Amino acid sequence: MAKPEGRGKERRRPPSEGDLLRVGSARAVLFSESAFIFLQRVIHEQMPELVKFGFYEMGFRAGIDLSKVAGKSKDPEEAFRRSVEAYKTAGYGDIEVVSCDLEGPEIHLRGRNLFESSAARQSGIYPTRRAVDHYSRGIFAGLASQLLGREVICEEMTCQFRGEDACEFTILPFAGGGD
Ligand SMILES: [Zn+2]
Repeated sequence: MAKPEGRGKERRRPPSEGDLLRVGSARAVLFSESAFIFLQRVIHEQMPELVKFGFYEMGFRAGIDLSKVAGKSKDPEEAFRRSVEAYKTAGYGDIEVVSCDLEGPEIHLRGRNLFESSAARQSGIYPTRRAVDHYSRGIFAGLASQLLGREVICEEMTCQFRGEDACEFTILPFAGGGD
């Protein structure tokens, strides 16, 4: 006869460190695309302007966090490229650094199949075609701001949700004001 109480104890065991998903030293959770769509719909219903500005700001903070994945590096370009690679590995979409001038700074990135463009096709919250990758813009701006030690902004110049070939981003110095 097996010992059911023993197995019961096993089932009640609290999750150990080994059961937790981690990215670097941070605990991570998997967030499905449908969960992201629900979140966007709720935010859009409650406070539509937050879809653009709130997700950018959230991305900006996540970007600062993600820059730590690159670790300490004397070469900010290498650190930036490594962090962008971490964004890709995390499943946000396919992204490449097209050009990287850190003096300007002026950095160009090109993405395809980014998660927000994909979610936008299903969420139904956008009545017209537009650039929608605000969280990603925020991540790139946060990453670059942290690694360069000065605040930059990131604009999305073309977007697959608008029917264009790719989502293209430009990172430029923050000039004050807002968009
Ligand atoms: Zn886009």
